[in-house]
Amino acid sequence: MQERQAFANWITAMPKAELHVHIDGTLTASRLLDRAAKHGVDLPYGSVEDVTKAYDFDNLQSFLDLYYLGTGVIRDEEDFYLLMLDYLTTCREQHITHTEIMVEPQSYLPKGVSLATMMSGFKQAVDEAQAGWGQSVLLILSLLRHLPEEDGIDVLELAHSSFPGSFVAIGLASSEVGHPPVGFTELYARARSLGYRTTAHAGEEGPASFVADSLDLLGVERIDHGIRSAEDPALVVRLAREQIPLTVCPLSNVKLKVFERLEDHNLLEALDAGVKVTVNSDDPTYFGGFLNENFIALHEHLLLDGKRAARLTRNAFEASFLPAKAKADKLAELDRYLTDHPSP
Ligand SMILES: [Zn+2]
Repeated sequence: MQERQAFANWITAMPKAELHVHIDGTLTASRLLDRAAKHGVDLPYGSVEDVTKAYDFDNLQSFLDLYYLGTGVIRDEEDFYLLMLDYLTTCREQHITHTEIMVEPQSYLPKGVSLATMMSGFKQAVDEAQAGWGQSVLLILSLLRHLPEEDGIDVLELAHSSFPGSFVAIGLASSEVGHPPVGFTELYARARSLGYRTTAHAGEEGPASFVADSLDLLGVERIDHGIRSAEDPALVVRLAREQIPLTVCPLSNVKLKVFERLEDHNLLEALDAGVKVTVNSDDPTYFGGFLNENFIALHEHLLLDGKRAARLTRNAFEASFLPAKAKADKLAELDRYLTDHPSP
């Protein structure tokens, strides 16, 4: 028990980076209720306890129902501001000193919410966190793969012309099955030609070949999830050789039954095989925890030790899309922490 607490304290205070978090997946139960009341939306829940119980879903459909309910109450500039500020405040509490956040306009544009509304709310919160406590933030324009590629290209063009410099990268999210990487080659070619960095979800529910295809056909620099790469040993060797980062989300994988139990998770095998694995929260309020809770759960259920936890954190800063100088500063800060606070 004491040892568990010592690890929790140590990992909590460590300066960390998060590379895979969907802003819509950070909506808290109390904020959902507060926004629903503001907009006069009738929810099937009366209290924070009721919503928290609903967050304890056991299948993908109930997760999606709840997720869409959440995006349905985020409508105006203040809503987007508070959504972002809530998450960035959690970053401060969890010592997530750098975060790369996925923003998905395609969840809102069809409801008549403009990109300008979203971005002005987000920008206000990001500016406040940067000025307030030096929070480092980059935004990823995450496109939804269950929608046509042309739709994604349109959103990219809109974001690029209306908010130049606001997004560092593009990503590809939503259901993999039936929506392979080969359908998005033009989107990625266009993004690269405009100077964007690139990442894509692959190898979560989709097969290992989706990881290889994301690298070969889309030219991505980073893979979100990628855990099913283990089904192709040659691919694991390649990921290690080319130092392709995987943004792994352990609690999410258990919640969505990619692994039955955390004890079955393969991320430490990949790490030990030399793959640049990182730990992330994905949709933290829906999947049972923010970044620290993921690390603590790995310590409890997968015997994650301090040495590997430090390696995972170093990987995240190295795999970030930060410019070289900022990256070096963040790594130096981590080194100072590790020198002053050896792992328990
Ligand atoms: Zn994700």
